[in-house]
Amino acid sequence: MASIDIANIQKSYGIHPVLHDVDLKIGDGEFVVLVGPSGCGKSTLLRMIAGLEDISAGEITIGGKVVNDMPAKERDIAMVFQSYALYPHMKVAENMSFALKLAGAPKAEIEKRVTQAAEILGLEKLLDRLPRELSGGQRQRVAMGRAIVRDPRAFLFDEPLSNLDAKLRVKMRSEIKKLHQRLRRTMVYVTHDQTEAMTMADKIVVMNGGKIEQAGAPLDLYNDPANLFVAGFIGSPGMNFFEGTYRNGTAPRFETEGGIIVPAQPHPALTDGARATLGIRPEHVEIGVEGPDALNANVDLVEPTGFGIILHLSFGRAGFKAFTNDRRFLNVSGSLPVRLPVERLHFFNADGNRV
Ligand code: ADP
Ligand code: MG
Repeated sequence: MASIDIANIQKSYGIHPVLHDVDLKIGDGEFVVLVGPSGCGKSTLLRMIAGLEDISAGEITIGGKVVNDMPAKERDIAMVFQSYALYPHMKVAENMSFALKLAGAPKAEIEKRVTQAAEILGLEKLLDRLPRELSGGQRQRVAMGRAIVRDPRAFLFDEPLSNLDAKLRVKMRSEIKKLHQRLRRTMVYVTHDQTEAMTMADKIVVMNGGKIEQAGAPLDLYNDPANLFVAGFIGSPGMNFFEGTYRNGTAPRFETEGGIIVPAQPHPALTDGARATLGIRPEHVEIGVEGPDALNANVDLVEPTGFGIILHLSFGRAGFKAFTNDRRFLNVSGSLPVRLPVERLHFFNADGNRV
């Protein structure tokens, strides 16, 4: 069993607090992605799980045992970093077997595990090469092979794909996910890239400023973000936001600062006249629709992505985006009627929490 339980963890470097009261349960065999902007404390948290950083306060439990004072090498956890850190003078097979050799594993066992790992990662033909004779993607695979041969009870990944080009990143992303499906080990994966988080995770943990903003299944975070930060971080292009005032009464509505009036559903948590933020995802903005609740938007820019079209629109000074697959919108200009459907609107109170 390698469930990981993080309870009220705090971390400070000198007087600078970096993690505040982080609480997180990671199930045995779960694939958890820690995601957030640079500097929010992801690597620090991961390194604390690995045993590479002291814990200032709180408790980390792995497989039912508190590990606060357990040295890294006794934790039976493997870590893969962004920099592959392969031994340059050792061939691929030696790089992969090095830790087992150090641990005094029998030769036949080492060979068996290296062969198995090479097969899983498609490295069979490269075992006799030196790292400098490999591409970036192959090197990253060797770094993973080094972790796999140890057959650890959990894998930790710290931005392992950041050095790869975009196409290879997408390929390795699915390879790591398949690896998880095959090995069924607990994996904790750190990235700043929300697409990696969305596509790979069983559970996403969104971090910001040393705190967890929200943890949950990818689509739960996408559909029901807890606050403005998560709403803006998850999804690409990101959610549109409008500042304004909520109006209750017989016809609930939202008045944007630019004077646009958007029909809304009743929100008991918002009082009449409350300052609020309206959020709507670009893919939920309806464009080119006529009708009594259609609003007139300016078309500022049309971005074809091949897969679809991102339209940069505005109501006065308030810019927003719409996403569509409908190619008729490739050549729009001037203005366009749009609808913000009530059932797609998110409202956030003055504290930034979704209501
Ligand atoms: P992330 O991985 O999310 O980008 P880190 O965990 O690396 O963030 O860093 C979190 C914060 O802790 C940052 O503000 C960083 O400057 C600070 N920090 C990280 N390591 C050290 C250290 N060894 N000494 C002092 N501050 C550090
Ligand atoms: Mg980091």
